[in-house]
Amino acid sequence: MKISQVRKLLKNKLACDVFWDSQTIQYYSVDSSSYQILPKIVVIPNSTADIEETLRICRKYKIPIVPRGAASGLVGSALGSGIILDMKKFDSLKISKDFVTVGAGVTKGRLDAELKKAGMFFPPDPSVGPYCSIGGMIANNASGSHSLKYGSVIDNIKEISFLTVKGDLVKLPKDKKLAKRIFQIAKQIQKNKFPNVSKNSSGYRLDKIQSPADSHKVLVGSEGTLGVLISAKLAIKKIPDKKKLFVLGYTHTKDAIFDCRQYLRVDSSAIEFVDKSTASKFPHRLAKDLSCLLFIEFDSKINKSSKFLKKNNHAKLVLEFDSKEDIAKWWRYRDSALFYSIKTVKKDYKVPHVIEDAVVPVDKLETLFFIIQTIDKIFKTKSIVYGHIGNGNLHVRLAAKNLKKGLIKKIARDYFSQIISHGGSISGEHGDGLARSEFVKQQYGEKNYQLFKRVKSTLDSQNLMNPSKIISTKSTITANLKNY
Ligand SMILES: Cc1cc2nc3c(=O)[nH]c(=O)nc-3n(C[C@H](O)[C@H](O)[C@H](O)COP(=O)(O)OP(=O)(O)OC[C@H]3O[C@@H](n4cnc5c(N)ncnc54)[C@H](O)[C@@H]3O)c2cc1C
Repeated sequence: MKISQVRKLLKNKLACDVFWDSQTIQYYSVDSSSYQILPKIVVIPNSTADIEETLRICRKYKIPIVPRGAASGLVGSALGSGIILDMKKFDSLKISKDFVTVGAGVTKGRLDAELKKAGMFFPPDPSVGPYCSIGGMIANNASGSHSLKYGSVIDNIKEISFLTVKGDLVKLPKDKKLAKRIFQIAKQIQKNKFPNVSKNSSGYRLDKIQSPADSHKVLVGSEGTLGVLISAKLAIKKIPDKKKLFVLGYTHTKDAIFDCRQYLRVDSSAIEFVDKSTASKFPHRLAKDLSCLLFIEFDSKINKSSKFLKKNNHAKLVLEFDSKEDIAKWWRYRDSALFYSIKTVKKDYKVPHVIEDAVVPVDKLETLFFIIQTIDKIFKTKSIVYGHIGNGNLHVRLAAKNLKKGLIKKIARDYFSQIISHGGSISGEHGDGLARSEFVKQQYGEKNYQLFKRVKSTLDSQNLMNPSKIISTKSTITANLKNY
């Protein structure tokens, strides 16, 4: 059937918005990554019945479909050439004692605001702040600065309701039959091929499935490849009564790494890193001879930990904040690091961000910085670095004049090979998407990759859900780069 007929069919059958005009198609062809893919149709469902009907048509006419949240993803995982399913209308929210049941389309901003009224919070806090959706956060296994203490989405989720591509509305882990099938696959993983890190958004997280009761975790980080997330039960916590934030300035990065390891021993709720070029764009003047900053926050045992920090540091500058306003202001600086880092790069020096999210064991941080410096030396790039150093997770922005696509691929191969060989993951939080899916097999090895394929065929045997993400058959790292 021709796509024009499918468009008409969807328009006739669905009780929701269906678009294919060029303005809408352009809008949905991009997200926050460096990629662009024009979809053929955009569906904005009002109900699960709309999605079921869309999926029926996708199955019948073999049309790929990509669920989409707020499009804040950084690796093109919400882009596709078939149907884009915008989940923004799935906005239910109900707060219970220690969990919240929330629709996939609810924004993190709205969830935070509602939970705050009840004195509670959902810990994973991506720096994109209020804009991302819960569906996108689950599908990326999102983390954030406070994941150091509180974990990623996968550590804070109790149940997921989703529509399989066959149109069945399933709840995991409640659906015993499917939960058992997933656990049977997870049981067979080669554990030593999973990275030894505290956060990981690459591949399917079968390592987190210890029993059928964990089976819903297969969907966390699955990037829309296994089904359409409808809602989830998320674990919530009481907002800490008090917090204290230290911002330390260093003349040598090696001292910051040393101190980071010390503060891991004293119940820090966040330990973050910002390099000199990024910090130079903060609206706060800092001494020129500083090479980097650490942000260290405590939200429990504050006095004891603060005393330890003041006595044990190699910093040249120590700033200490107690008031809510100051703490919020400095977190805004840190959370805007991506924005500030981009400000440091001239237009024709911009390089698509493909290697920006690796994570290594914390005892390999010196190695990670060395790998980044070596990339700069070999490929004549300048790297800008910030991120979640307490987790061993650093974001890298490369700058270089007119870097050829072939070289971008070469850098990625070189970088990821080294990350994997040092026990790290190619993605700590942003996922595989178009930038990294071709490296998933190398990351996990042949046996685990075959198990990933079994997970995929168990839930999507026709390969219609976000094809070529996570399980990939072709290289997509430099295809579809926007204006490059
Ligand atoms: C400035 C900036 C800072 C960021 N900082 C962080 C950070 O600190 N930590 C972090 O983890 N991430 C960070 N991110 C990445 C990103 O914002 C998050 O991963 C976010 O959770 C994605 O949510 P979204 O709603 O925008 O998803 P989208 O970008 O719309 O989609 C992401 C993936 O989720 C899938 N998806 C979305 N909704 C559904 C659904 N209902 N069912 C099935 N699949 C679905 C999509 O298909 C896609 O694969 C940052 C991004 C930006 C731009």
